[in-house]
Amino acid sequence: MPEFHRLDSPEATVAAGQALAAAMRALEINQLIIFLVGDLGAGKTTFARGFLHGWGHSGRVPSPTYTIIEPYEFDSVEVYHIDLYRLTDPGETDDLGLAELPGPGVVMLVEWPERAGDRLPGPDLTVALQVAGDDRRDIEYRASSATGKRVLAQKNM
Ligand code: ADP
Ligand code: MG
Repeated sequence: MPEFHRLDSPEATVAAGQALAAAMRALEINQLIIFLVGDLGAGKTTFARGFLHGWGHSGRVPSPTYTIIEPYEFDSVEVYHIDLYRLTDPGETDDLGLAELPGPGVVMLVEWPERAGDRLPGPDLTVALQVAGDDRRDIEYRASSATGKRVLAQKNM
């Protein structure tokens, strides 16, 4: 069942990302693929910032638009914040080694996953953000695996 919520400020988007990280930590889940979908400016990087803060990151979270992959290392996981906006061909996904990245202890948070065509493994969770007026966003979560479902259930507890 998709869930749909309204976010009234950038801070609310940050808090949503933090809540997702908190749910994973509570379940001790350290392997997950999260797709972040939505137009430019929808709040994907803002959500990622909250997610990384939720794992304990306290510094900046630059958009990976130019670097494409920004790795963050924590005690029990590595989080890869990835932005595929600039890919011009799905084949570049292979050059970046993205297909080999998933595994135990690896969390992937991918903006513009559609640019990879079918070369990325499927997500456990999809977070869809949409602009809903000047100062609002809508957020929707979809789980595509048993682990993704557990995380969403935990988040809603
Ligand atoms: P994306 O990564 O999807 O392109 P960003 O996360 O960079 O988008 O956000 C674009 C702008 O939207 C930023 O200025 C951010 O502060 C703002 N923003 C994020 N969430 C909200 C929200 N819930 N309400 C209003 N503005 C938001
Ligand atoms: Mg972004």
